[in-house]
Amino acid sequence: MTKSDYKSDVVIVGGGLSGLPLALALAQGGLSVTVVDALDPARATDAGFDGRVSAIAFASCRMFEQLGVTKFLQGQMQPINDIIVSDGRVREGASPLFLHFDHTEIGDEPLGNLIENRHMRIALQKAVEEQPLVRLVAPNAVKKVDYAASHVMAVLADGSTVEAKLCFACDGRASPTRVAAGIKTIGWNYGQTGIVTTVEHERPHEGVAQEYFLPGGPFAILPMVGNRASLVWTEKTEAAKAILALDDEAFAEEMRARFGDYLGACRPVGPRWSYPLSLQLARDYVRPRLALIADAAHGVHPIAGQGLNLGLRDVAVAAEVVVDAARLGIDIGSLNVLESYQRWRRFDNTALSLMMDGLNRLFSNDIGPIRLARDLGLGIVNEIGPLRRLFMRHAGGVVGDLPRLLKGEAL
Ligand SMILES: Cc1cc2nc3c(=O)[nH]c(=O)nc-3n(C[C@H](O)[C@H](O)[C@H](O)COP(=O)(O)OP(=O)(O)OC[C@H]3O[C@@H](n4cnc5c(N)ncnc54)[C@H](O)[C@@H]3O)c2cc1C
Repeated sequence: MTKSDYKSDVVIVGGGLSGLPLALALAQGGLSVTVVDALDPARATDAGFDGRVSAIAFASCRMFEQLGVTKFLQGQMQPINDIIVSDGRVREGASPLFLHFDHTEIGDEPLGNLIENRHMRIALQKAVEEQPLVRLVAPNAVKKVDYAASHVMAVLADGSTVEAKLCFACDGRASPTRVAAGIKTIGWNYGQTGIVTTVEHERPHEGVAQEYFLPGGPFAILPMVGNRASLVWTEKTEAAKAILALDDEAFAEEMRARFGDYLGACRPVGPRWSYPLSLQLARDYVRPRLALIADAAHGVHPIAGQGLNLGLRDVAVAAEVVVDAARLGIDIGSLNVLESYQRWRRFDNTALSLMMDGLNRLFSNDIGPIRLARDLGLGIVNEIGPLRRLFMRHAGGVVGDLPRLLKGEAL
């Protein structure tokens, strides 16, 4: 390999919602990081770019605090106080058996916060600007990564090169870095599309998130700051196409037929976005000097708002494993080190991905006996306090073998 233009301990391909937190975490542990993102940072934070709002679990919020991100999110975080899960049909409302998660049952803290992806990106970029060990190179795509025995060399679209001991692929579901490394995936399409839009409503939502399981797929109402909510409205893809093509009045009418009137008068505002839904799991997370993070390793159904939270767990674990190795003077790109990240995360990610897959199959239909069984199931879980509280702790991301950052501790 020829001499590089830049050198750092780590190069990260992709400065999105997992790449930037990973850079901040590694830098907290004393490593120098180059993050390369294909998108112009101004475009990635533009109001028209990504209309999604993410449910960020309590444990992930602790990591944001620890990484100096939360101070840039003041006024942009909507606490999730309660979650109500129910089965329903369009224009009929929810069934009488439902599941109610109330955060006060497990402590004083909310179950998490809802944050607009745009505001998350702005806050992460500001935190990165404050961190001298991180260099963000954007817009500039990584064209290829060459792997050598002692280092990697990333070649960028403008011809410049970055040399590092380790490369992290945080480049999303399509992950060109994963593909080029020959790592295969397994998975399937759901034949469903997630329609995302914002709704303004008359009465305050009090931080209550609702998940209605309708025959076409889950209809999630996620409270936002103010009298607003973000919808993740899942439909079979053909139905979604028809709904997306409706004029504003007809679209609002279809939306109200599902949303109901529990928050008074409501209307969609702003653009509509759509996301085709599929499951995609990488067979391996690591190769010598390469590790896959977040959607590059596992793309899941948004039914439980867990995709990014799983990715942020990857971030916390990968940073801990790599920083601890560096402190012991061990080569951070060695397969031994990276395999401990894979061992810690792959089973958890696969189990949760398949659980979300199962939930989606169980609820996205209108078959009488299945409907009866799942409604009874919701009612039973709602009556069993310890089980209800276990589900809440899962939603808050505080179950299992937590890495230091998710416990709110420094690296
Ligand atoms: C409808 C919907 C709702 C969701 N809601 C939630 C939720 O409530 N809670 C939750 O936890 N998760 C949620 N998710 C999942 C979440 O959005 C994803 O898990 C998350 O965005 C993944 O982050 P990432 O960093 O892996 O990928 P991305 O955010 O896709 O970032 C990838 C980055 O890589 C860059 N890139 C790609 N190729 C290159 C290259 N060659 N060179 C340089 N840069 C490159 C891109 O420009 C991009 O910035 C939802 C998903 C959907 C579809």
